[in-house]
Amino acid sequence: MRKEDIKPLLDLQEIDEEIDRLERRLKNIERERKDFEEELSMLRQELEELRTKKEYLLSKRKELREEIEREEEMLERTEKKMTMVKKDIEYKTLLREKSKHEDNILKKSYELDELEEELKELEDKIKEEEPKIEKRIKEIEEELNDLDLEEKTAIRKLENLKKEREIRESKVEEGILKFYEEAKKRFGNKVVVCIEEGVCEGCGIKVPDVLFSKLIKEDSVEICPSCGRYIYYRL
Ligand SMILES: [Zn+2]
Repeated sequence: MRKEDIKPLLDLQEIDEEIDRLERRLKNIERERKDFEEELSMLRQELEELRTKKEYLLSKRKELREEIEREEEMLERTEKKMTMVKKDIEYKTLLREKSKHEDNILKKSYELDELEEELKELEDKIKEEEPKIEKRIKEIEEELNDLDLEEKTAIRKLENLKKEREIRESKVEEGILKFYEEAKKRFGNKVVVCIEEGVCEGCGIKVPDVLFSKLIKEDSVEICPSCGRYIYYRL
């Protein structure tokens, strides 16, 4: 076969490589997008957890403050009553009541202190983490936008390439096309390769000298005895 005869096939192979490259890129875009989306949802969850915890602590603090206030009111009422009772036994009961309220106030104040401390720590953490998380979220959203854009462009380009491929395919002689399609299953897109310094570019094995001379002299296309690809000598 002469080299001119293989030219349409080389054109087809070239476009198949481009189609392959784009299809691989599209698959990678899909994977990258999935990774970004997973990270995004994790970050949003992290942010949500911090905020929910803060809300919980705030409401708990409000509750505690109210309880302390109630205890203080009751204490006040008890002390007032103590100034008015006459019987000793009544006074003793009130005294016990008083001490119970005092205990409760002490206990709840202690709880409140602990809670304030926890809240302060959480607020510091939020102050430090929130801007970082939000910045990363923004970055990811931009990455996702870029990926969408790249994907759209790639899909459009792929459609055009496939149309062009049909044209190129129609120019390849039927027997050669059949060989190409079959060989592609084994070799991927590298079915027609050139000989570089006597070595087949496809399998990396040196072709026999006789064959090499023939390729140079006749400028023909032959079949590599080692791998079965079409080989030619590039001048
Ligand atoms: Zn070979």
